[in-house]
Amino acid sequence: MKVTFLGTGTSQGIPVIGSDHPVCLSKNPKDKRLRVSVLVEWDDYSYVIDCGPDFRQQMLKANCHKIDGIVFTHEHADHTAGLDDIRPFYFRQGDIPFYAHRRVLGELEKRFNYIFTTKDKYPGVPSVIQNEIKNEPFLLGNLQVLPINGYHHKLQVFGFRFKDFAYLTDMKTVADEEIEKLKGVKVLVVNALREKEHLSHFNLDEALAFIERVQPERAYLTHISHYLGFHDTVQQSLPENVYLAYDNLQLEL
Ligand SMILES: [Zn+2]
Repeated sequence: MKVTFLGTGTSQGIPVIGSDHPVCLSKNPKDKRLRVSVLVEWDDYSYVIDCGPDFRQQMLKANCHKIDGIVFTHEHADHTAGLDDIRPFYFRQGDIPFYAHRRVLGELEKRFNYIFTTKDKYPGVPSVIQNEIKNEPFLLGNLQVLPINGYHHKLQVFGFRFKDFAYLTDMKTVADEEIEKLKGVKVLVVNALREKEHLSHFNLDEALAFIERVQPERAYLTHISHYLGFHDTVQQSLPENVYLAYDNLQLEL
């Protein structure tokens, strides 16, 4: 399995438009973060988790020619606003499978009604196949994927476990029985916004405590704000098996 971090930034990305914060002005490519998304590939399958406003740029950078589906964690714009750019995949492959909680599918249908509608479609508008995710294992290609239920303040969010790899973003609260489902995972990705506490995201301490509970072999932090600091400085402060993810980082599992 190959995992590519397409984006590792929080909702505004880094740099933030108009900001003169030192991290936003950094020349280090690892301090430039598009909105969070990962590409997960195994055998001949490739799935994208989330489809934020940087989707087009991310697909070009990853040289992605085919996607077997898009899996959504939740409906916030930094995870969904790139939907119109599924068009090149639709033209080549036909209807694009979406996997999401029923509520998220409903929200996407409201915001992208022209994509979801079945009558009087404007020529060139893409179509999707809706697959509802419940909190139970589901099939992506030939692999059983396990949803991990959590909360982003009061909003339900899904993380996902693909065998030895798990990806959780925008989490603030995860119940004990959901953490149980992560036991034995080799690589865990989890969100860490900044040092200061936040209403709806793990801060760095909460992310590290979460990793400590799950005990993966390695962990990577994502959904990062410029307030967390420079990549290289933060990396030096982390425990030995914990890494700050950065855009275009690839993991082989
Ligand atoms: Zn987000």
